[in-house]
Amino acid sequence: MSRTLIVSNRLPTKGQRTAEGFTFQPSEGSLATGLGSVYQADGNVWVGWPGLSVEEPAEQAQVTEQLRQDSMAPVFLTEDEIRDFYEGFSNSTLWPTFHYFSQYATYEQAHWEAYVAVNEKFCRAVLELAGPEDTVWVHDYQLLLLPEMLRQQRPEATIGFFLHIPFPSYELVRVLPWGAQLLRGMLGADLIGFHTFGYMHHFLSAVSQLLGLPSHNGQVETRTRTVLADAFPMGIDYGRYAEAAASEAARQHARTYRQALGHTRIVLSIDRLDYSKGIAQRLRAFELLLQRYPEWRGRVSLLMLVVPSRDQVAQYAALKEEIDELVGRINAQYSNIAWNPIHYFYRSFPPGELAALYRLADVALVTPVRDGMNLVAKEFIASKTDQRGVLILSERAGAAQELADALLINPTDTGQLVEALHEALHMPVEEQQTRMAALQALVQQYDVFAWTRLFLDRLTYSKIKQQTLA
Ligand code: UDP
Repeated sequence: MSRTLIVSNRLPTKGQRTAEGFTFQPSEGSLATGLGSVYQADGNVWVGWPGLSVEEPAEQAQVTEQLRQDSMAPVFLTEDEIRDFYEGFSNSTLWPTFHYFSQYATYEQAHWEAYVAVNEKFCRAVLELAGPEDTVWVHDYQLLLLPEMLRQQRPEATIGFFLHIPFPSYELVRVLPWGAQLLRGMLGADLIGFHTFGYMHHFLSAVSQLLGLPSHNGQVETRTRTVLADAFPMGIDYGRYAEAAASEAARQHARTYRQALGHTRIVLSIDRLDYSKGIAQRLRAFELLLQRYPEWRGRVSLLMLVVPSRDQVAQYAALKEEIDELVGRINAQYSNIAWNPIHYFYRSFPPGELAALYRLADVALVTPVRDGMNLVAKEFIASKTDQRGVLILSERAGAAQELADALLINPTDTGQLVEALHEALHMPVEEQQTRMAALQALVQQYDVFAWTRLFLDRLTYSKIKQQTLA
C-alpha cells in the first residue's frame, strides 16, 4: 500500500521537557490542521524537527517512540544546526531575500554548508521511512534542496514540493551565491506548488535565466524529466473559525472587551513581529488618519497584536524598538483619559480570545509589504458571521490575488491607506455585507482541506502523465 510522508522543518506539535519526561501537544497552525487529515490516515507519517533540543540518545529514543504513536517521526537538530541552518541560512538569507529585503540578507558559507547538511539529514530520515511506492510531500523554504536529494536516491519516487513564502523576481534570486543550486534542489520534485501564479512565473523565469531550462504551460523540461509548477492558494479551516467566532466563549470575551472599550470603533491588526508585515507603515497611516480626519479622535481605536518572533535576529529587535516608539508617540499625543488611540499587545493570544477580537473588529487592517499568503485576512473573513466588517488588504499579500472584494491598498502609499481607513469606517452596512458575502463564499470553498486535496490529486496526475509520456 502506498503512503504519504509529509516533510517540514517543524512537526505540527509543541514539545516540552518536564520533570516527568516529554510532553507533546498538537499545534493549531493551518498546515497542521489541513494535513492532519492526511498524515493521521493509515500508515502516513509527518517528518520534522520536534521544536526542542534533545541530544542524549536515550532521550531521542524516548521522543521518537512518543511521537511515533501520533504518526510523527522526529529529525533532531543540534544547537549549532539550529543557529546556522535555521536562524542562519533559512531566516537570515532565504527569508529576507524571498521577501525582497536583500539588504538584510547575510551570505555566510558556513550557514550554507549547514543548510546542505541539514537537508541531507532530512533526506536520510525520509529514506529510512519511505518505501518505493510512497508519496513524499516536502514543505517550505528550509528544505529547498531536499526534493533533488531524494530524487538522486529514488529516481522513480513521487515527490511534491510546496513553497509557503513568496518566490521573488529573478533579480533577487541571482543575488544569492547559491541560487542555481536551490533551483535544482526544487526541480527534484514532480510538482512544485506556489500560493500565486505570480510566484510561479518568477520561479519559471529564474529557472530559465539561471539554468537555461525553458518551460511551457508551467512544465519545465529537465534533462531527464518533466516537472510541473502550479498555483495552489492555501486556505484555512473555515468551519473552525466560523464556529469559534459564534461560540458562547467568544461572545463572552467580546462583551468584556466591548465594556472596556466603550463605543469606539475597532480597527484590528494581527501579525508576527516581522519587517515584511508593514507594521510601522500601518502605525504611520493610523497617525495620519487622526491628523487628517479629527472627527475620528475619540471614536476609533487600533487594536494591534504583535506576536513575538525571531527576536534574537538584529533586524527584529530594531523593528520592535521602532514599533514601541511609534506607539508611544502616537498615544502620548492623542490619548485622553477616556480613550486610547492604540491598544498594543506584544504577545500571543489563545484561540478563544483571537476569535472574540475577529468578531468584534469593524475593520481588519492587513498591510504587509510582502507576504506569501496571509491567513489572518482569511480568518477575519471566516469569523464574520453577521457579514459586517471591512477588510483592508495589501495588494502585496498572496491573499490579495483571491480577495478582490477587500479594499486593496499599496502598503507604502500612506495617503491611500488613510483614505481606505476613512472609507472603511464610513462604509454602509449593506456594502459591507455584499463584499463580505463574496469573500466568505470564496474562502469557504477553497479551504485548507480543498487545498490539500487539489495538491495531492495534481501530484498523482502529473506522475501518471509522466509515466504515459515515458
Ligand atoms: N496567531 C496565533 N496567535 C496569535 C496571533 C496569531 O496563533 O496570538 C496565528 C493566526 O491566527 C494565523 C497565524 O498566526 O493563523 C499567522 O499566519 P499568517 O499567514 O497571517 O502569517 P505568518 O506568521 O505565517 O507569516
